[in-house]
This record gives sequence, structure tokens and C-alpha cells, in this order.
Amino acid sequence: MENRILGLHHITAIANEAKRNLDFYTKVLGVRLVKKTVNFDDPGTYHFYFGNETGAAGTILTFFPWEGIGRGKNGSGMATHIGYAIPEGALEFWKKRLESYDISFSEGFIFNEKSISFMDPDGLHLQLIEPETADDRPVWTTTEIAEDVALKGFHTVTLTLQNANATAKVLTDILGYTILKTDGNRYRYATDTVSTARFIDIIEDPNIPRGHNAAGTNHHIAFRVENDDILMNIREKVVAAGLNITPRIDRDYFYSLYFREPGGVLFEIATDNPGFTVDEELSQLGTELKLPKQYEGVRSKIEAVLPKLN
Ligand code: ZN
Repeated sequence: MENRILGLHHITAIANEAKRNLDFYTKVLGVRLVKKTVNFDDPGTYHFYFGNETGAAGTILTFFPWEGIGRGKNGSGMATHIGYAIPEGALEFWKKRLESYDISFSEGFIFNEKSISFMDPDGLHLQLIEPETADDRPVWTTTEIAEDVALKGFHTVTLTLQNANATAKVLTDILGYTILKTDGNRYRYATDTVSTARFIDIIEDPNIPRGHNAAGTNHHIAFRVENDDILMNIREKVVAAGLNITPRIDRDYFYSLYFREPGGVLFEIATDNPGFTVDEELSQLGTELKLPKQYEGVRSKIEAVLPKLN
């Protein structure tokens, strides 16, 4: 049993309009809505989970769409860029597709890998990257997005920090990452426990102002562990490092711990169990509004206040 961090579990970001967010990710980018639930702390707001067919860890991007929330500001103390892996040769397809939706993008290299960068409708920074080593994860396909171009899941997430030292120490000493390479002020950390969703990039720039968390920014990033025992082992390490961390929280689809790393980014540790098929069949994932037990009694009230999606 691997008792270390297994790369990324999920990333959670903030959006404004729910329908626009849902349409962009499921239609334009073609990822699967694997769970439609509510924010457990604010049940009048949706919580969308997008991923591959099974909602595998390392493919899950989740959103709290708060209707009418203003735009946030990307800046230091945040996860600022989400990089998805795509199949080799798929960049041309995506360039044409983004053009067809009038979405501007820039082309470049992240380290030595070809990529394009663009924003979602709320201003969240996304990157599509052709990794130098093939990514064999299964994908979700749509009528417009076939297997040979579909998003594979996360490749890397970039943290922007005024000073990288304390955050790097958390990555290496607590989470088991090691420095892999650097390019100017970009530092790439990796875990060797998995072959995908295994990179964390840090951009260090003392002059970047602090970010502001609202629409178009990331709320937190979650690292993956296999089970509860390992979750609690990691908790002890975080406590021993003198950082504040929550108790174990039941998120229905995984168990979680949250702590803010010294650079300001909210980190979560999340388990594989029980997963998204705990309350829906694989073929039905994301089709019904799923509520945690404490809200089932007021389902009709919640459904009445949630924004319309069609
Ligand atoms: Zn989370």
C-alpha cells in the first residue's frame, strides 16, 4: 500500500453564473459532469464536479458557482493556473475549437512541453499541454470531442507566490514532493507515486500583489491519499510542522482535511474512498441533484432557490 500523497485529487474554483460554467466545461471543453450537488456550507449554491468518465482523482475540477459574485483577482498566495494534459497532436484541434468560440489563447512552452493558455468565462486561467510522456488515462468523449483530442485530466497546477521557500518545504517535507526542474522563476515539484497529475509548479515573484478569491480564481487544491489511515498520518505531520489543520470532514464522496500552507494557498488532503459511485450508477453520474443527508428534508426548498440550468 502506498502511504504517501498520490498527486492531485481535485481542484476547486469559484465561478459566477452556474449555467455558463456548466456549459463551458461540459460543452466547450467536453469534460463530464460527474456530480451535481450543493455547497455543503451554503446549500443554495451548486457544487459541480467535472472529470473523466469515472471522476477519477487527478481529473476532477469542481466549482462553486455563486450567482452575481464579482470577479476575483489572480495573484500571490493562490493556485493560479490549471494545466490539463491532452493527447499528443491535439493542440491543433483545440486551437481551432477555441477560435470557433471566439476564445483568445496564447501558444507557448511550459518547460519543454507545447501548450496553449486561455481563460474560462469567469477568467480562470487554463492551460492545455501536450506532455512529453504519453498520458494513458481514459477520457470522457462527446459528439464533438473524440478520444484522440479529449482532456486527460490534470497535468500540473501552478501556485503563484511572493516567496516560495515555506511552501516548497511543505511540498517536500510533508507531502513527499521533490524538485524536478527550474526555468527562471518557475520551479517544478513532482511526486513519483503516480505517473499523472503529479506536478506542482511554483512561480515565485516578490512583486506580484496578493490575489483576491472570487469568480475566476481557485479556492483550493486537494492532494490525493488512498484511505483514511493515510489521511490521518498526513494530519499528524501537518500538526507536527506547527500548522493549523481541520479535523477529518465527511464530503460524502471523500474524506478531507484542510490547512492553509504558509504561502497562503488553501491545501486539502482527500481520500479515494468512497468515490462518486456511492450514490449514483457510473452511467448516471451527474444526472440528478444529489444532496447530503442533512438537506434531504428540505430538498424542495433547495431546488426552488438553485439557479436554473436550462
Ligand atoms: Zn476540495
